[in-house]
Amino acid sequence: MSKKKQHGEDTNILHSGYDPDSYHGIVNPPVVRASTILYPSLAAYEDPNHKYRYGRYGTPFTDSFTSALAELENGHDAIIAPSGLAAITTAILSFVKSGDHVLIADSVYPPTRFFCDGPLSRMGVEVEYYDPHIGGGISKLIRKNTALIYMESPGSATYDVQDVPAIVKAAKARKILTMIDNSWSSGLLYKPLDHGVDISVLSCTKYIGGHSDIMLGAAVANSPATFKILQKGARELGTFAGSEEIALALRGMKTLSIRMKEAGARSLKIASWLEKQKGIKRVYHPALKSDPNHKLWKRDFNGSNGLVSILLEPASKKAVRAFVESLKLFPIGSSWGGYESLLQPQYLKNCRTAKLWSEEGFLIRLQIGLENTEDLIADLSQALAKFNKERT
Ligand SMILES: *Cc1c(COP(=O)(O)O)cnc(C)c1O
Repeated sequence: MSKKKQHGEDTNILHSGYDPDSYHGIVNPPVVRASTILYPSLAAYEDPNHKYRYGRYGTPFTDSFTSALAELENGHDAIIAPSGLAAITTAILSFVKSGDHVLIADSVYPPTRFFCDGPLSRMGVEVEYYDPHIGGGISKLIRKNTALIYMESPGSATYDVQDVPAIVKAAKARKILTMIDNSWSSGLLYKPLDHGVDISVLSCTKYIGGHSDIMLGAAVANSPATFKILQKGARELGTFAGSEEIALALRGMKTLSIRMKEAGARSLKIASWLEKQKGIKRVYHPALKSDPNHKLWKRDFNGSNGLVSILLEPASKKAVRAFVESLKLFPIGSSWGGYESLLQPQYLKNCRTAKLWSEEGFLIRLQIGLENTEDLIADLSQALAKFNKERT
């Protein structure tokens, strides 16, 4: 449960999930590995409020992490999951039933869409995608059986920023639950629960872990009542996470703020440079003044991250290959939020249905890591020269 905030956010994060007095003054909470937990008596076993019952239901160690997450997101409490995607599917399944209608942002993380089009649709939930720029206009899409509005802001690949307060207002007017995938902000750059969203979902695999070596997810609830349903859902579905991952995530959280500040500053520098280069049709990064999402991003967010997407000018596959394969510091790899730079091709043709994707150039997502920025620019520059030579 979150405590009253007395200090600035950096200080609060350092002291969250932290209680040296409870363990001989040792700074970090001891990692607990547990399946079986013994009970002192039959009465204790039969007491539904007996605190630690079984590994999957939580331990003092997992509580350190969930309380740190609740504090980060200004929420009530959190559930943990073996991946960001598992946190998303668990959160959705905890609140919807057959016959319900759900509104999902068109720019969601593609595997979220695959879940909605797959298992969720198969169980009889009606899935409808909405334009992420819809704002208060979402009220026109709300039906009698709408059970959930699911946002992701900025969205995947193109970083469409949603007008969360306007959407929440429309949802509240009809008593509809709202959820947001807040992974882009890592819980740090935006506080959706402060703006009325009911549940914030995080892929802790990204900046919270921060070192490309864990898979972990979480969902944070705004209130005891919401948390109760979410926790029940997670328990029924068996959603939980391993201690090793949590230990690394707790460690990652301590440097989250400073790593993200650097990532944001470096990516803006590179995005601004990329904008001026020949061969690039468009740069997607909400901190860029030229980005159509800039105004809303500036209103709601207090920083950005290392994700920058580029749309190459239409060119042959050979030219695209020349660009991608001559980069030395941007290997092809999924995920983001780690220390190193990466590149991931994006194929949005089958991932946008509310507003079709019709751009002709090749779309690439760059994750700007903590290498020297000059080295990254030099690498991009030589690869762009090869691209431009090949396409003309
Ligand atoms: C990566 C990602 C996820 C999924 O997280 P995993 O931990 O990889 O399962 C969810 N949402 C967004 C926006 C992501 O980028």
